[in-house]
Amino acid sequence: MSALTEPDAIVHITPSAGVQVVRHGWRAKCLQRLVRMELPVPTSFAFSADAVRAIGNGQTPDRARLSSIIGGADGLVSVRPSAVNPAWGGPNTVLNVGINHECHARLAEKRGKAAADAIYLGFVQSYAIHVARLDPDMFSDSDGGLKAALDAYKSETDEEFPQDPARQLSEVLRSMARAWDGPTARLLRQAKGAPAQAPLGLIVQDMALALGPGVTGSGSIQLIDSTTGTPRITGRFRGQTQGRARGKDAETLYLTRDPRGPSLEEAAPEVFADLVRYGVAARERLREEMQVEFVVSDSQLSIIDAVRVQRSSRASVRIAVALARDGIIPPEEAVMRVEPRVLSDLLHYQVDPSAPRDIITRGINASPGAATGRIVFSATAAQAAEARGDRAVLVRRETVPEDIRGMHAAVAVLTERGGMTSHAAVIARGIGLPCIVGASGISIDSRARTLRSGGREFHEGDEITIDGTSGEVLAGAAEMLEPALDDSFNQLLDWADEQSSIRIRANADTPEDARTARRFNAQGIGLCRTEHMFFDDERLPAMREMIFADKSEDRRLSLDRLLPMQRGDFVELFKIMAGLPLTIRLFDPPLHEFLPHDREGMRALAESLDLPLSDVTRRVESLTEFNPMLGLRGVRLGITIPEIYDMQARAIFEATIEASRNGDPVVPEIMIPLVSARREVELVKTRIDAVAAAVRNETRTDFAYRLGVMVETPRAALRAGDIVQHAAFLSFGTNDLTQMTYGLSRDDAGRFMGTYVGQGVYAEDPFHILDRDGVGELVAIGTERARKQAPDITISVCGEHGGNPESIAFCLRAGVNYVSCSPFRVPVARLAAAQESV
Ligand code: PEP
Ligand code: MG
Repeated sequence: MSALTEPDAIVHITPSAGVQVVRHGWRAKCLQRLVRMELPVPTSFAFSADAVRAIGNGQTPDRARLSSIIGGADGLVSVRPSAVNPAWGGPNTVLNVGINHECHARLAEKRGKAAADAIYLGFVQSYAIHVARLDPDMFSDSDGGLKAALDAYKSETDEEFPQDPARQLSEVLRSMARAWDGPTARLLRQAKGAPAQAPLGLIVQDMALALGPGVTGSGSIQLIDSTTGTPRITGRFRGQTQGRARGKDAETLYLTRDPRGPSLEEAAPEVFADLVRYGVAARERLREEMQVEFVVSDSQLSIIDAVRVQRSSRASVRIAVALARDGIIPPEEAVMRVEPRVLSDLLHYQVDPSAPRDIITRGINASPGAATGRIVFSATAAQAAEARGDRAVLVRRETVPEDIRGMHAAVAVLTERGGMTSHAAVIARGIGLPCIVGASGISIDSRARTLRSGGREFHEGDEITIDGTSGEVLAGAAEMLEPALDDSFNQLLDWADEQSSIRIRANADTPEDARTARRFNAQGIGLCRTEHMFFDDERLPAMREMIFADKSEDRRLSLDRLLPMQRGDFVELFKIMAGLPLTIRLFDPPLHEFLPHDREGMRALAESLDLPLSDVTRRVESLTEFNPMLGLRGVRLGITIPEIYDMQARAIFEATIEASRNGDPVVPEIMIPLVSARREVELVKTRIDAVAAAVRNETRTDFAYRLGVMVETPRAALRAGDIVQHAAFLSFGTNDLTQMTYGLSRDDAGRFMGTYVGQGVYAEDPFHILDRDGVGELVAIGTERARKQAPDITISVCGEHGGNPESIAFCLRAGVNYVSCSPFRVPVARLAAAQESV
């Protein structure tokens, strides 16, 4: 049996017909639902994907069958694509198939010559362009009228315009089947996630004619605003118009009463009332907000099609929540219907998608949201701008820890270098600042204070817009959409938490971060990077003194100055977190990051330390490492200069006592970074236990704490069974673990990541989406080995991957207890975790 003679090759869509999405496509299924609702749907037939493929390969459907399909009401049909997924698109719809001289004469009698001419002309144009593949220029102009088009067809093809309706239909079906198989169509749908061989069904439907006497035309209606998601009837009605065919009295009407002009509601109130009724019914039965396509033919309403309403990010949340609140879908389904990533659009200002964009360059979209401000080239200038009340965009080759205050002062950040986990990216995501990194197409001259990109030059003070969601840098100010942290957003996330099997914590270093984390309902802080607490103007000098101290006693003196400040930081964080867990990571970065990098800074430091400049320069040089990320940092620093961790432990314990005084006892979690050997943990643990004992003694107060280890080196993952013996918990720092597993610098990889991903060396940037095969295997091995030794151990992931939906899915399967991510990514993580838990 050939594909064309199989029983369901061509199905008349009735309530009981065997229509399947996988065989006939979504549109066929949707039409069947509308038919079952007894809406006035014109007679429709679904051609199966197998049948369409056979037609594309040159087989011809049975002529008698085609003639019977086309022999309905006016003898005219439309042909529409019906892919499995509406997002995959399809060839253009062709209307009015079947029209010929005879039918034209009949229509002219019934509907007037002008309407008949317009319908015939519209079809000749479509057929000539899409089926016969003639030069569109010869047919796109309607001025010459029907006769000219028919003559042009004849002169181009040496034959009369085909008069046999069955042949017309057969040719239209074939051309659509072939268009679907063309390379452009394949590429387009693959970009939308469709397989290259995705099937296509076709729908042949009796035409409801939209040209003729009385209230006649075609339109679409939806009950929801696509941008805001709030209830509002929108759409259009085009009188005397049907696709390309426009009658001489064609005019566009508003749907509802409108002071600006005539409306369908006034012209045909019953039709309008029916439309609204059908819209409401379709929402309930199809369990979705639908855009309904309709035709009115002399006040007779036909529903010809319905598609899922297009929606913005915020509308997608509101629609899902409203459907669940109205009892149309269960809350669990609402949670599944929203793409986690869209939530981050709701947290920030966004460039209005419909507004024009003057793109200067593109980079890596490191932190979402958009902001407009004036270019500055230094952190100091950003701070000065903030003090003046100006909005600054900080533009740097890359940022260093000293730039943090400038980043806080800026409204957005742009760097030429860097990748997803470079300094600028991590900090910006942490504080919710729009940020683009690795914009390698720009060149910055910070002396001349200019930014060049593709022949254009911008100066300090020029206004630009950073779209951190798309990675585009735009000239001037762009139109923005406001954040939408509304009731629907919160409701959706509450439902998500109910379903989730893992918890989400936040990476938070400052009180402001912690408050953001609470606002987004994070279940605690999974990573507090304490080094970020040493950068303000008051602490940096003490820190630098400490670095310059040669002797342990001198070092202790500087650390004693830092102690009360650290203690104050922790007291405040404990207070904000109100009993939720707080994981504090001991000092991690190489010390030289705290030293000035230029001559001017060194001179200022020499002055404040009362040392010759040469001493300062020498010390800076002696601390400089070839590979600082693999050098004296993390626990290595804790072991070689133990006074730093001693001070931090004391600050934590004293803060614990203070915070516990007014409420439930606080149990701090202390975390050791960059461990690679068990002995490192033993050494640090011994000292921290000693500090705890000393504080207990001095204060005569007892307290508990948990000491954990960050698994950030491949060796720590492999030796997790060993290391876990001294740890109360483990947390995978997947940023460093990725860096060290690949041997790929997190700060430099941005330069060639585009090329690597472009050529398929890496499927994705591994700093962005956790590499399951390599880094992921280390996470799985580490988890398994640790649990073998300590089955109840708490295991988490606190690298940037903790905020990425695909990576969360992996972590969940690897058996981690929670993930921790930047505060502004917590909502996305909560939703992704819920979707993966189902
Ligand atoms: C990590 O390495 O994954 C981590 C969380 O620590 P940091 O990013 O501070 O190095
Ligand atoms: Mg790390």
